[in-house]
Amino acid sequence: MKPLQLTEHLSTPLVDDYDVIVAGGGASGLMAAVSASRAGARTLLLERANCMGGTGTTSMVAQWIGFFNRDRQVVGGIADELARLVVQLGGSEGFKRYLMAEASANPIPLVHFAFNPETVKMACDQLALAAGVSIRLHSRVVAPMRERSRVTGVVVEDAGGRSAMSARMVVDATGDASVAHAAGVELADPEVKSKREAQPCTLMFRLSNVDVHAFRAIPRDQKRALALKGIAEKKIFWESLSFCSTPGNTDAICLMSRVSGFDTTDPQDLTNAEMEGRRQIGTIVEFLRENVAGFSRAVLAGIAAHIGVRETRRIVGRYTLTEDDILGHRRFADSIALGAGPLDIHETGGTGIRLHVPDQPFEIPMRCLIPSSVQGLLVTGRAISATRGANGGARHMATAMALGEAAGVLAALSVASAHEVTADEVRSVLRGRGAYVSLEDAEQMFEPA
Ligand SMILES: Cc1cc2nc3c(=O)[nH]c(=O)nc-3n(C[C@H](O)[C@H](O)[C@H](O)COP(=O)(O)OP(=O)(O)OC[C@H]3O[C@@H](n4cnc5c(N)ncnc54)[C@H](O)[C@@H]3O)c2cc1C
Repeated sequence: MKPLQLTEHLSTPLVDDYDVIVAGGGASGLMAAVSASRAGARTLLLERANCMGGTGTTSMVAQWIGFFNRDRQVVGGIADELARLVVQLGGSEGFKRYLMAEASANPIPLVHFAFNPETVKMACDQLALAAGVSIRLHSRVVAPMRERSRVTGVVVEDAGGRSAMSARMVVDATGDASVAHAAGVELADPEVKSKREAQPCTLMFRLSNVDVHAFRAIPRDQKRALALKGIAEKKIFWESLSFCSTPGNTDAICLMSRVSGFDTTDPQDLTNAEMEGRRQIGTIVEFLRENVAGFSRAVLAGIAAHIGVRETRRIVGRYTLTEDDILGHRRFADSIALGAGPLDIHETGGTGIRLHVPDQPFEIPMRCLIPSSVQGLLVTGRAISATRGANGGARHMATAMALGEAAGVLAALSVASAHEVTADEVRSVLRGRGAYVSLEDAEQMFEPA
């Protein structure tokens, strides 16, 4: 049967004009907008949720990693400023040592920054407002405006209906490369999406009334035994009893569900994934209360507003970062940010995780943010041009923030310049602000508070 088609003739009002529009106000988009605005560009940030912060807030993934490779700090600049602000507002105790995936077969020691997502929402507001960014929440970017192969703005749907806004540069920070995809940018590995083989999602949840100290006192081998018991009983879904606690140590923000086999850019799959996540949370909470020290009186205080999505689309840019680049310490003359790892690949359909910390920070070239075939558009964050393996090491939030700051500078300089902006120009502005753009910049070592 021929598929039905509804042809609409839309007349969309063009309501404003900006130098830079950033689609998505997550880890990377927030930084891109603040960065572009500080570089002098009239900047608008459009975010579909009711807050900025992205996966860290809306999906409650309550710890930033990627600030440190082993003990070496690799991300500074505006990301570091945001972290300090969160501490100042009482939303975190700062950087600490942490054993990632403690109940798995190969846990790894890291330096992380655990936080209360509610405080991070407030810190994001303060940072963006102080930088003079125009912010529109509850605003979904639904399409790019285009003139031939150039993106010239975006179409938005919000409480007021549908409108268009033009811009000299658009930054796609949606995590899903939604603007780039609609603008015709080539995508990497499309079969991963169509075969629903992306890394599993996790729906985060928050338990209050938890005795965090009692849980921390359980020896690691017992935690692993508990996780394996839960898996055998089909009440725990991967080798994880991982959670972050907020200041006060009364709450556990749990990274314990594992939802595999869905393409979250498909609306029905996304719906099914959210509901499967909630079903899993029901059984996990029951298991924790009955079996795990510290949880006997736990109360389900919240479930994230959006399931955490690890993998969807990635663009093909002017350069594609590979796992060999990361592990082989490849240097790039146009490096604009440093990644820390770990290379972090969750097993699709299984219960395991592959984790590896590169023994050095790695450089990420500016070309990974620039689509090869479309102008007027940059892509930052989770969807940059990287292989699946490299993306496993470059998608952490601190790395996404560093990339965002670089994208903001590149966008702002591009608006103000008649020629194609060079990486040296971008690097010079970033360094002037205290951002780390190449290996030589990463000299600061971790000092416990
Ligand atoms: C379950 C899980 C656990 C993780 N664990 C960690 C961890 O412990 N530490 C860590 O550092 N990283 C972790 N990550 C990785 C990390 O959270 C993401 O890779 C990172 O947030 C990517 O940053 P981003 O800015 O590209 O995307 P996001 O932070 O996801 O931000 C994208 C933003 O764009 C908005 N958006 C999307 N589409 C539109 C649209 N059309 N219009 C307007 N707005 C839009 C979204 O609402 C969102 O706010 C985890 C990820 C998941 C899913």
